[in-house]
Amino acid sequence: MAAGLEDLWGHQPPGEPDAARGELRRALVVAAHPDDADFGAGGAAALLARSGWEVRYLVVTDGSKGSDDPSFTPHQLVETRAGEQRVAAAHLGVASVGFLGFTDGELTASRDLLGAIVREIRAFRPYAVYTHDPEPVVHNEGFINHSDHRATGLATVDAVYPAARDRLNFPEQVAEGLAPHVVRELYLWGSNQPNCDVDISSVVEAKIEALLLHGSQFNNDDGFIDYMRSRWQDAEGRSFEHFRRVVMFG
Ligand SMILES: [Zn+2]
Repeated sequence: MAAGLEDLWGHQPPGEPDAARGELRRALVVAAHPDDADFGAGGAAALLARSGWEVRYLVVTDGSKGSDDPSFTPHQLVETRAGEQRVAAAHLGVASVGFLGFTDGELTASRDLLGAIVREIRAFRPYAVYTHDPEPVVHNEGFINHSDHRATGLATVDAVYPAARDRLNFPEQVAEGLAPHVVRELYLWGSNQPNCDVDISSVVEAKIEALLLHGSQFNNDDGFIDYMRSRWQDAEGRSFEHFRRVVMFG
């Protein structure tokens, strides 16, 4: 068991990859937009990285709709947001960031998207995958779940099971040398049915710093930092990320 994580993962510690089975201490975080990974799982990513896991972010869309600032062209916004995401990820100890480049705001859970995520899973071979819970159309907190979040979550869940696992799905990838891959654990953020609370108190400041590195998106003019702190803190002052956790059979 990774040192310390057993105390933080809601009394259900993340499984320890079995090296004898070729399992690696790797986690893939699949997010719709630049900044979603930091929001949804930045604390868990930092904890895993500090415990020796290799964490990779995969950003599905190009973030080209995410600004009201008329001085930004869509192209400048894409470049700016990708750069911000790389810096923020590095701040949390995330080892790499991939960008699939689908158009922001226009995502559907298509065959193309499924294949792209399957390819990433087969190439990176993560033990655990973190992504948006695709089920809520309206969050319990009272806001609408962005359609890109739903499409990303749904395609990622479908990629984890069964598409990445089975050799007859996207067989052209297997023919290229990308072997089928079994993901052991799935963690969904933004869920209306969380069953796993990860104590991120030791890394919450780093998570907030990472979010503020998305300078095109956030600043503290409107009490944003205070809002974030209060969003994750419980009455005792500890901070949590909440996930719906699915442990695979086998
Ligand atoms: Zn988003």
